[in-house]
This record gives sequence, C-alpha cells and structure tokens, in this order.
Amino acid sequence: MRTVSGMTSVPMSAPAVGPAELALVSKAIETGWISSRGQFLTDFEEAFARYVRGGQGIATTSGTTALHLALAALRIGPGDEVVVPDFTMIACANAVLYCGATPIFGDVDPTTWTLDPADLERKITRRTRAVMPVHIYGHPADMDPIRRIARTHGLSVVEDAAEAHGALYRGRSVGGLGTAGCFSFYSNKIITTGEGGMVVTQSKAVAGRARRLRDLAFAHATRDYRHSELAFNYRMTNVQAAIGLAQLRRIDEFIEHRRACARIYADLLGDIDGVTLPAEAPWARNVYWMYTVLIPGGVTSRARIIRRLASEGIESRVAFWPLHRQAFLRKGKGAKGRFPIADDLSRRGLSLPSGNGITETMVAEAAQTLKRVLREDAR
Ligand SMILES: *Cc1c(COP(=O)(O)O)cnc(C)c1O
Repeated sequence: MRTVSGMTSVPMSAPAVGPAELALVSKAIETGWISSRGQFLTDFEEAFARYVRGGQGIATTSGTTALHLALAALRIGPGDEVVVPDFTMIACANAVLYCGATPIFGDVDPTTWTLDPADLERKITRRTRAVMPVHIYGHPADMDPIRRIARTHGLSVVEDAAEAHGALYRGRSVGGLGTAGCFSFYSNKIITTGEGGMVVTQSKAVAGRARRLRDLAFAHATRDYRHSELAFNYRMTNVQAAIGLAQLRRIDEFIEHRRACARIYADLLGDIDGVTLPAEAPWARNVYWMYTVLIPGGVTSRARIIRRLASEGIESRVAFWPLHRQAFLRKGKGAKGRFPIADDLSRRGLSLPSGNGITETMVAEAAQTLKRVLREDAR
C-alpha cells in the first residue's frame, strides 16, 4: 500500500476477503440477483441478527444510514434531543441532525472511553427522547446504568455498535441490548460488505417501520407509486449481502485474531512509562476494533510520532476529534459545558494498525517501532 512518504509496510487496516466471499458473490451474479432483493439478503439479515441476538435485521447502505433509519423509525424529529457521547465518530451526531433533532453531547468514562452514565443523567431535559451509547473501538458501553436511566426517563436506547460486532456486555452481545442496535460493514469494521450497515431490533413495530422507511415508504404492496410519507432508499444489495454472509461465517476467527493482536500490543507496550493501553472492563469482552493507546505529550509531539512512524512504514492515526469541537457543531446546544475526558482522549489517542488483514507479525513490528520512536522522542 502506498502513502505519500513511499511504501507502507504496515497499513492502518486491511480487510480479509478471499475465495469464500468470491464464491458467494459469483453465485449472486450467476443467478442475476444483484440488486436489493435476493436470498443472500434475507439470509444475511437473519443470520446476523441471530448472531447478535438482536431480533430482526434490516440491512442498509451504511452504518450512518442504519443510525438515521433507526432514529427515523423511532419517530425522532424536530424539537427532540438525543444524547450521544462526545468522543465518537461524526455519524452519531449527523444521524440525529438528519432527523431535524438536536444531538446533546455527554462526556465519556476515563477507563472505557464510552458514554459516562452520570453525564448522561445531567444532560437529560424534558425534550430528551433517546440515548445513543457507542461501543467505542470495540469496547462495550456500560449498558445497565444507561438502560436504567433510559427506563426512568422514558428514553429509547439506540446502540451504535458499528465498531463492536461480537463484543460482549456481561456475556450478552452488544447491539441487542437496546431498543435498536446499529452496525456498520465498512471495509475496516469487524466484518465487511464493502459499504453497508444493519439495524437490529426486538420490536416488531420498529422493524416494520424501518423496513418501510428503507424502501421509500411505498403505500401499497402493489408498489403503485403512491408513498405514505417522506422516506429513503437505504437498501443493501444482494451482492453486498453475499460478501457479508461469507464474512459472518468467519467472524469468530476474526475476533480471536483481533484479541491475539491486542495481547501482542499489550505485551510489547505495557511497560512504557506514560502509555495507557485500551481497557477491558471485568464485565466486557473487547473486540479491539482499532487498537488505540494514549501516549504522553500533546498534539505536537503526537504529530511528530505519527510522522516518524510513517517514515518507518508504519501507518497510525489520531483518535476521534470531539463532537463539541467540530466546526459545524460547536455553536449548538449540545456543545455546551465541559468535556475534559473526551478532550484528553482526543489529544493523546493514537490508533495503531488493526484489522482482519493485519497479521501478528505486522502488529509486533508496529509495536516495536512505536516503542523505539517513543524512546527516541523522549530524549
Ligand atoms: C464506522 C462508524 C459509523 C458509520 O458507519 P459507516 O458504515 O462508515 O457509515 C458510525 N459510528 C461509529 C462509531 C463508527 O465507527
């Protein structure tokens, strides 16, 4: 893989797709079912929803559209507020805004980096309709207190599990713990369909409405071009689902691989002063979507470390930029207040090569190079 500085020997991420995926894609093409109907689609929706014990699955074009579809199916709209963690990917805030609702940011827990239930509680107003816990970098959010608070205040819980397929909270799969759960199948996620996503939900009403809204809300089964409301085309194709189905058969192997890579990182980076490794709470199984560490120093020294790594062929990436500091969000109501933990993570976080196609050898090389670069930088 090429970067500006030349050859990269260890990229940030690489998917593992091969003969198994190709075989099912060929089948989809041979049968002519390449659009948004077909056996692979229904099989993938059913098998994935079963894997996460999520009820029904509604496949979409992306994780972002899965989040939007879930909120729309819950009738989140103008005047409503949805609490999302400040430290996450931009899609969480965008999905709320697509509904015309207001995202309200909550700070995160310093250990798990997921939504802090205490800050969630402080951010609830009479307009709050839902909370969107994010299982960040593959580590589950602390769902019991979040669900307790949601129940007390009558909120829906829309889990963003885009980074955490197969992660466990007290032995139960994330994504199946809320009113709805949303996944992404982008190429660097735990399993991929190239681009794609899925909403899972135990609620028949939410599932039915999500299916209708995914498909332009045709009013009649005859599809006579009358539509009951404003809706979307968020349909996944049968070709994408074929890739997803082949990937799903390998998911346990992928997760084991990611956990083995995390152990290598921990072994090699665990004894460096000032470096914080990602946590795994006693109640959690982390699937280590992107192995992210906190390094000492500020953003300038981190930029220097990233450049030094790149010059040695190791790709790395900064952690998420907090939502309350995003140019188009920082003047909004949700950005009010202080977010010291999200700010700290975003300044010190460094994501290291991780993924189904990143080998243990690559991980060891990345870790050893980082160790040396940090030592040299400290001099
Ligand atoms: C990847 C991701 C998304 C969006 O998924 P896409 O498929 O890229 O649209 C949403 N939330 C989180 C936390 C993500 O990491």
